[in-house]
Amino acid sequence: MKKILKNLQHQIKILNSLYYLVFFAFLIDLSIIAIINLNFSNAIFLKGIFLSILAVVKISFYGGFYGILVEIASEQEIFLTFRRFKQNVKDGWLFYIILSAFICILYLILITNIPNSNITLLLFFSYFDIVFCLGLAYLIISKKYSFSRGDRMSFDPKFFFSTIFIYVVKIVLVHMLESSNDGSVIIDKLIALMAQYFHFLLFVNISMQFIKHCSSDIEERQRPEIYLITPVVSGVLEPIINLILGNLLNFFYPPVFLILRGLTPKKYIIREFYNRFWNDRYYKSNKLVVITCYTFNSYEAYSIAKGFKEKGSTVVIGGFHVSFLPDEALEYCDSVVIGEAVGAWEEVINDYEKGTMKKKYYSLGPLDDPESVQKELMSASPEIASKLIETTRGCKFDCEFCAGPMMCGRQIRKKPVKDILAIIKKVRHQCKHFCFLDANIYADPKYFIELFEEIKKLKIKWIASCSIDIATNVKALTLAKESGCKILRFGYEITDQSVEIKQGGKFSLANKYSVLTKKVRDKGIHVTAFLIFGHDSDNFKSFLDLIRFSLVNPFFTRSVCILTPYPGTRLYYRKLAEDKIRNLNWMDYNASKFVLKHDKLNEPLYEVIIPIIFNLIFFRPLTYAFLFALFYALGVGIFSMLK
Ligand code: SF4
Repeated sequence: MKKILKNLQHQIKILNSLYYLVFFAFLIDLSIIAIINLNFSNAIFLKGIFLSILAVVKISFYGGFYGILVEIASEQEIFLTFRRFKQNVKDGWLFYIILSAFICILYLILITNIPNSNITLLLFFSYFDIVFCLGLAYLIISKKYSFSRGDRMSFDPKFFFSTIFIYVVKIVLVHMLESSNDGSVIIDKLIALMAQYFHFLLFVNISMQFIKHCSSDIEERQRPEIYLITPVVSGVLEPIINLILGNLLNFFYPPVFLILRGLTPKKYIIREFYNRFWNDRYYKSNKLVVITCYTFNSYEAYSIAKGFKEKGSTVVIGGFHVSFLPDEALEYCDSVVIGEAVGAWEEVINDYEKGTMKKKYYSLGPLDDPESVQKELMSASPEIASKLIETTRGCKFDCEFCAGPMMCGRQIRKKPVKDILAIIKKVRHQCKHFCFLDANIYADPKYFIELFEEIKKLKIKWIASCSIDIATNVKALTLAKESGCKILRFGYEITDQSVEIKQGGKFSLANKYSVLTKKVRDKGIHVTAFLIFGHDSDNFKSFLDLIRFSLVNPFFTRSVCILTPYPGTRLYYRKLAEDKIRNLNWMDYNASKFVLKHDKLNEPLYEVIIPIIFNLIFFRPLTYAFLFALFYALGVGIFSMLK
């Protein structure tokens, strides 16, 4: 009994992780019923068109959904991806039509031979649900995997009882639906949704029965696996936006995944988790789990690491945060990679295979990516490759608040021009827009000119982060435009009136910010601005300066962050020494909270007004939406008063 319940629980978990697809399937069916019931007496043709469109949507969607359920049940995939869904639509739509048509034909035979049977198509389908699921699961699984030779297909009792249970519940629900003549519409819909849920549960249940007999799947499962994870921060809006943009447009693909893929022996299956809300179902034993950790997502990284360790997997954490605080991370994981992955990862893999994992792995220093990483980039999809080209690594500046120079060094490492051109040439026909990953695309002016003289010939469009000194070099700026530059992102960090100009380095051009920004804009290149508030010298006047600076310079977008002392930065150590750090709760280190004590600012007040002013008022689409909503509300108010 315990085993039956455990199995059922596992199947329910699989289906629950795709609850939104069950709901979508239900919506499609509801829409079809609504169209059928609508009175289109004058427009039968229109009704036909709507029904045809919905039928195509239903067949494609169901075909894809059943395929994804099989892949997740077999552990070929761990979660839904758009790419796999598309493939499953192609593979499964015909099977779905064949099985549905088969049951419809049986129904026609029944009502022709027994006209008074009083059985509806819905009820008939639910009686034959078990046949439908058996047939469909068999067809899909035999197309994906091969069944073991000589293995007799037999029903395991622990599956058999759960299959019958699900099947009976489904029939009871459909009977309830059929017999509810004048019941509540909402309750009817809920029953219909539950019936739909049990149908898919039956399919998962039966699929798992077949999957046990698939040899290729079993062999595949024996290959060692590495999980690469970049945890999504908890929250409401930001993770959802990331999820949508990330999944649809392949934004936010972690560059380190590509490097690790390139450095990992091919015998490993690599599974990637990014832009994804965590689900306990993903915890598995006997895996090598690699988690990338920044300060802002360290809470989630540690919690996931703990979950995998409890299951018996080996957990390695790397990234900026743990490179500077390795002992903190070691409370939750087995090993920490300190510094860049290149030069450390090979040793991690070797030790993992020998079972001799060390606590700390040190990168051998700033190294160039090996050839295998370039190969990995060349084989990546155009959407990903076009966003992962890094021409240089390292930064010539040494800003006090930035951990980049401490992690990647101050020496500029340049990628061979031919390698960059090779990737662009490979993907430019599918993807015209490129986003360079560099911290500063203008890190080395000579190299920049050499590279973009060549890129100019390839007729692409690109955006990148840059330092404002590019505007002092007419040749470089002109070349940027001619080579297809659309947007340059400048980290101004301070305004042209800030006392912080005395820090020098990147700030030494601050008093010319407006003039230089105009030069970039005059070339037809948009400018996005990053500013930081909360520097030691900042006060109310600095805040007004920030607003003025944002108004007089027509930036494409601007974002203002609160100065945050990330571990590893010079700022962090200075503020620790001065005892000016308010708290070490890393969840607050998201650049929208004052974690530093400030002598001249009312911190809570600025935490509220900065997002209101800079994110809402200055962000144009939202401004327009806000104004529209305001005028609409006013109009409605005045109109109702006049009435
Ligand atoms: S210029 Fe940018 S990348 Fe370089 S140190 Fe300053 S903030 Fe970091």
